[in-house]
Amino acid sequence: SLTPPKKSPIGILPDGSYSPYSGAEKFSQLPLSKKTKDGLAGASYSKMTDIQRASLPHSLCGRDILGAAKTGSGKTMAFVIPVLEKLYRARWGPEDGVGCIIMSPTRELAGQLFEVLKSAGKYHGFSAGLLIGGRKDVDTEKERVNELNILVCTPGRLLQHMDETPNFECSQLQVLVLDEADRILDVGFKKELNAIISQLPKHRQTLLFSATQTKSVQDLARLSLKDPEYISVHEES
Ligand code: ADP
Ligand code: MG
Repeated sequence: SLTPPKKSPIGILPDGSYSPYSGAEKFSQLPLSKKTKDGLAGASYSKMTDIQRASLPHSLCGRDILGAAKTGSGKTMAFVIPVLEKLYRARWGPEDGVGCIIMSPTRELAGQLFEVLKSAGKYHGFSAGLLIGGRKDVDTEKERVNELNILVCTPGRLLQHMDETPNFECSQLQVLVLDEADRILDVGFKKELNAIISQLPKHRQTLLFSATQTKSVQDLARLSLKDPEYISVHEES
């Protein structure tokens, strides 16, 4: 596993691979769209956290990521930003349907990351929906789910749509995010996750973030990631 040095030479990432953005310390040094930069201006910080600094140069190049960093290290922005940029660069629009699925272990965490997504993405025109269990309006959801560009969901609810929603369509999926993957597996969603991943188009970018790298996270990574960058950030001692 890797600990990113305080400063890496421009262009060379801690693992020796190349990205033109690897020297960046601040969000403003990344090649982001104006809409994303304006969305980030709403947050009070400008410097990236370690996991953001180590992963964004890769994820913005379109690579798959297996990122491990402890709770509170800023993993949400490490995937929200590349999701917005990927869809923006693809000129994703209302007619294009589901371009990104973000999976979260619990309703609460899904709700929190949905708020981060809305805030960072507020100058983009993408539609996003929170699909979580316990909501009564599943029929309305079924009518509208194909019109959404970004789905933030718990695995159970997404699988319900895949099974029950007529014409549920995600064949154009660009990005899959597995957030807090260790907890998704802890709360017993392994079967659902495998069923979902087997139904998704294989040509996509996948970003997998986790607080810990357990055996089952490694198994999930093998199943879902293609030639990923392994990024593990530890506390400095
Ligand atoms: P994790 O998913 O790793 O547990 P979060 O994405 O929830 O962490 O972020 C934890 C906290 O850090 C949040 O309050 C978030 O607003 C804040 N945060 C995110 N990025 C930065 C940053 N670059 N600088 C300072 N604080 C940040
Ligand atoms: Mg998180």
